[in-house]
Amino acid sequence: MTDKFYEVLYPSYGQYFKVDEVLFENKTDHQHLIIFNNQQFGHVMALDGIIQTTEKDEFIYHEMLTHVPLFAHPEPKKVLIIGGGDGGILREVLKHKAIERVVQVEIDQSVIDMCKQYFPKHSDGAFDDERAEIVIADGIDYVRQANETFDVIISDSTDPIGPGEVLFTNDFYRLAKQCLNDNGIMVTQNGVCFMQMDEVINTAKRMGPLYKSQTFYTSPVPTYIGGVMTLAWATDDPELNKQPKAVIEKRIKQSGIDTRYYNADIHVGCFALPQYVKKALNEL
Ligand code: SAM
Repeated sequence: MTDKFYEVLYPSYGQYFKVDEVLFENKTDHQHLIIFNNQQFGHVMALDGIIQTTEKDEFIYHEMLTHVPLFAHPEPKKVLIIGGGDGGILREVLKHKAIERVVQVEIDQSVIDMCKQYFPKHSDGAFDDERAEIVIADGIDYVRQANETFDVIISDSTDPIGPGEVLFTNDFYRLAKQCLNDNGIMVTQNGVCFMQMDEVINTAKRMGPLYKSQTFYTSPVPTYIGGVMTLAWATDDPELNKQPKAVIEKRIKQSGIDTRYYNADIHVGCFALPQYVKKALNEL
């Protein structure tokens, strides 16, 4: 390990971080895990050479992957999280007081353990919340065997390489849908559309036919480089991503949840897609 960490996501383009101190590095049962300190972003975690989360910009991604579906759903009570071992999604989900139960299925216990230690504000005690059940398992095995259903499913996975690959398959999307209540919402992290358009296309082809309404929404996340992040959205209620700003604003106000990035304007605007994405989707 030199004093620079070079991300390996793209063969001819990338980013590096100056490493002030390596806090943890090990090969877990599933992936290579490194956590280091960087002056700009604070603690940074990478899995198999790919940046997963940083202390400084995590709030954007976690708020967008959580609050967009949870404020769009009229009455969410049960949530399933796939992946998300750093605890950021769980923290945001549990801010919704109406949520009665959250099941989080993470394949790698080491990610949870190390993030509790080096990113304590990511979960902020959420792993100990009595509404949360943490299952250490492959997400696809969980949805294959699950005997309960959820209002919202959030897939906070690694990219479709290594253990995360199964979470982008036809089988996973089909099995996950069986765990979704009527008019429930499923969202998934889906890469950076400018750089990973193939992921967007594949998800549209695989997830799209299963739902009456399948699209994407976007969010900039500074350390997911190359443009805006694309988050997949799927539901059988085509009205859920078209609700007026006033409806969302009222729900946010009633919840009392204080956010740093997400708000009603962003909620309404995030479903606007760049023309090159719309064209690619229209051509399918
Ligand atoms: N926000 C990040 C991003 O977009 O790059 C991803 C966050 S990271 C917490 C993703 C988590 O997914 C990791 O903890 C990893 O262990 C977990 N994961 C990967 N494959 C999985 C699988 N098949 N089932 C459950 N969890 C999985």
